[in-house]
Amino acid sequence: MPDDAVNSWEARADAHSFYGFTDLPTIKDRGATILTHGEGPYVYDVHGTKFLDANSGLWNMVAGFDHPGLAEAAKAQYDRFPGYHAFFGRMSDQTVMLSEKLIEVSPYDSGKVFYTNSGSEANDTLVKMLWFLGGAEGKPQRRKIITRKNGYHGVTAVSASMTGKPYNSVFGLPLDGFLHLTCPHYWREGRDGETETEFTARMAQELEDMIAAEGADTIAAFVAEPVMGAGGVIPPSEGYFQAIQPILKKHGIPLISDEVICGFGRTGETWGCEAYDFVPDAIISSKNLTAGYFPMGAVILGPELTDRLQAASEAIEEFPHGFTASGHPVGSAIALKAIDVIMNEGLIDNVRALTPKFEAGLNWLAENPNIGEARGKGLMGAVEAVADKATKTPFASDLSVSERIANTCTDHGLICRPLGQAVVLCPAFIMTEPQMDEMFEKLNKALIQVFADVT
Ligand SMILES: *Cc1c(COP(=O)(O)O)cnc(C)c1O
Repeated sequence: MPDDAVNSWEARADAHSFYGFTDLPTIKDRGATILTHGEGPYVYDVHGTKFLDANSGLWNMVAGFDHPGLAEAAKAQYDRFPGYHAFFGRMSDQTVMLSEKLIEVSPYDSGKVFYTNSGSEANDTLVKMLWFLGGAEGKPQRRKIITRKNGYHGVTAVSASMTGKPYNSVFGLPLDGFLHLTCPHYWREGRDGETETEFTARMAQELEDMIAAEGADTIAAFVAEPVMGAGGVIPPSEGYFQAIQPILKKHGIPLISDEVICGFGRTGETWGCEAYDFVPDAIISSKNLTAGYFPMGAVILGPELTDRLQAASEAIEEFPHGFTASGHPVGSAIALKAIDVIMNEGLIDNVRALTPKFEAGLNWLAENPNIGEARGKGLMGAVEAVADKATKTPFASDLSVSERIANTCTDHGLICRPLGQAVVLCPAFIMTEPQMDEMFEKLNKALIQVFADVT
């Protein structure tokens, strides 16, 4: 290898950096993409190549890559008070203000917030809260967590156990007591002749049966994303949350909304639960919470869980949990600004304004004979490749169709993400109409090219 190849950024990345969730054959073929900076929804690599990032980083860079207000909020807070914890009764003023703001914009009249550094840790924290409550309330057996197949809740040992993906079996996960229901994806999971209403009723019955089989008093919570994100952008079947919430209520099982992706505007509402018209007992937030400008997660407890956690904590005089950087002052300042930017500076309005065009673009792609389904909500969408549209038969997995589509898009200057046999689009909320045209045209070109190769 010539020196410049050995010393290339790509080779240096290979030499000393691990890649998470990366298709290693693709890296072998193509090398990593090493980025230097961004502009609006675009990013640039070390060679100066410009890419439209149709996934806003990992769903989170919703204000783009060069938002001046967010960078200023960070700088101002770094100058003022660059770091502190939230232990021993001390916390920064920014943290106090952020909690007030989160409750103000939540569906709750009152409640409390606990901070983490990520969405995974927020789900872990929630589970520890519920396990703590079980012990404190004389129900130590109340520990099981119900989620759904294809649900994504993170990568720590507990949140990976909540995640309903087969890849976690390489870690010997899920842990005991983490149960997974059928994914409420009518197009893929519906039976021949079954209406969507019947399908939803079957999903609800499956939950009812699981609760009966396990024992209601052994179940600590049901946790769901309003729209599944990393599972492939899967909106629930019609009436899903309306069908399951009464069952959970009847058995006293909290319904937790994992809003790490849906929260703060992705669906066109502040929360995904608003888009689907249900009020959960707690909300998990991260990603958009800081518009990706700082690692931060939050567990937002509604009034009932707040009171119970308060009582359980008072009984032992503390809640023995917290991360060194929980409620970080810079993260809190950025989150306060991000919420303001999303809700008051036109970003959520732009999501709503662009949604019809986004849906039209997805439906246009679905005219391709090898796209089986276009689906989405707000500015999150996916198109799913199929070898046969009528029978919904997927392509052979060794063809790596969605990886090929994503790689071909990269060649055309578009970053989008393969997920199973689907390709995901979740653009930044600042996207313009011409940028959206560019996104769909480039993806369409890639679809035509790849399907010509594999069919
Ligand atoms: C990304 C994600 C998480 C995990 O967040 P991390 O910050 O990556 O730990 C949890 N839940 C949902 C719905 C997510 O999309």
